[in-house]
Amino acid sequence: MKLRTYHIWTIGCQMNEADSRHLAAQLERLGLEAVLEPVEADLVVLNTCVVRQQAENKIYGKLGSLRKMKQQRPHLVIALMGCLVGVKDNPALRAKYPYVDVFVPPSGVDELVNHLLTHVPALDHAAPDEYELPVLERNAITAFVPAVLGCSHACAYCVIPLRRGAEQSRPAEEVLREVSMLVSQGVREVMLLGQIVDRYGLDRPDGPDLADLLNQVCAIPDLLRVRFLTSHPNWMTDKLLDAVASEPKICPQLEVAAQSGNNEVLRRMRRGYTREKYLDLVARIRRRIPDAAIHTDIIVGFPGETEEQYRDSYRLLEEVEFDKVHIAKYSPRPGTSAAQEDDDVLEEEKERRRKDLDDFQKAIQERKNAALRGCLVEVLVESEQKGRWQGRTPQNKIVFFEGAESGPGRLEQVRIEWTGPFSMIGKMELLSNE
Ligand code: SAH
Repeated sequence: MKLRTYHIWTIGCQMNEADSRHLAAQLERLGLEAVLEPVEADLVVLNTCVVRQQAENKIYGKLGSLRKMKQQRPHLVIALMGCLVGVKDNPALRAKYPYVDVFVPPSGVDELVNHLLTHVPALDHAAPDEYELPVLERNAITAFVPAVLGCSHACAYCVIPLRRGAEQSRPAEEVLREVSMLVSQGVREVMLLGQIVDRYGLDRPDGPDLADLLNQVCAIPDLLRVRFLTSHPNWMTDKLLDAVASEPKICPQLEVAAQSGNNEVLRRMRRGYTREKYLDLVARIRRRIPDAAIHTDIIVGFPGETEEQYRDSYRLLEEVEFDKVHIAKYSPRPGTSAAQEDDDVLEEEKERRRKDLDDFQKAIQERKNAALRGCLVEVLVESEQKGRWQGRTPQNKIVFFEGAESGPGRLEQVRIEWTGPFSMIGKMELLSNE
């Protein structure tokens, strides 16, 4: 039976989204066509995330419905990919899901393609060695591009190093080739990815570091913007900050995960810095890049986190006034060192802290965005939504505006007229020299 159609279901981080795009492109090279519903697909790929229990639970629901689909259509090929599978052989997982045909590690696109080529007869052979954006992403203006795979940091709560393997920077040529290829197909903004992206190149002694790589990426004609995520505070060098400050294509958006505002919790999380060191970094960023947007990640309810320790995270938000905060309730992950500790903050209390931080941060964003009313911002247009253009500022704030002359991929000057905590509305202005 010939495979004609595929469906990829992606959950989790930007890295998974990039992996899914790579996979989709390869499947289309093999002659498969994308379909929007798994019931219409000959091949279904679940690209999974296990960073928190909530993400993991979604996978089990999907696997259950795929089991039924396979009973009705025995020719359906099911591939389980990503962090549920991990980089180590996992016989228990294979035994648990006998109806899954192939288990693929995170970023393991080649493994899956090779499996299909050897196990599925009459599959068209791969086309020449080029990489076209998959059909469903053909109009993309922005794209994620992995720069650092895996992670070798052992944060006490985090399962990613166990599932994605050791840190490994992609060779600069490979990253540059991928960005050029994306740009030649219409992409205008890329986000370089890594669990600790600011460690880029440290495992390649003579290679470029992240600042060098960013500058090389910026030299690609027609690329308008580059961003990077996630940074760890300890690796944010002045050289990197100076690169952001001096190269207009590098967006002033810094994603520096704090995780907690309390020194004892940070120590037990094994983050390797203190609140004071984090605040020094914030000051360093703002001195060098006054218009920088700073985003962060916070975990509430880490084992043993007291109310007072939690308040330190609250006060960190108050003191820094971040532009965006991703707040997660702690979830014990098998194999991590924190999982050996008692998960003693009750779910209701975790939820209270999460909501408390969320509400507080929303008010901060509302206030910060309101200060932009009347200002002119530069917007890279990404899409049309309900008759208006949608795009983002260099600080990654979402802007909607009207204007018949505009279109995806264009940079526009927009005068902000209305602001909310999560988006803004403005009017496009034509510059007099245009
Ligand atoms: N490497 C990135 C994080 C990737 S995971 C970094 O250094 O920030 C994305 C976010 O999920 C983390 O920043 C953290 O806030 C959260 N997270 C990771 N493990 C978690 C866990 N066990 N429980 C709750 N949140 C977690």
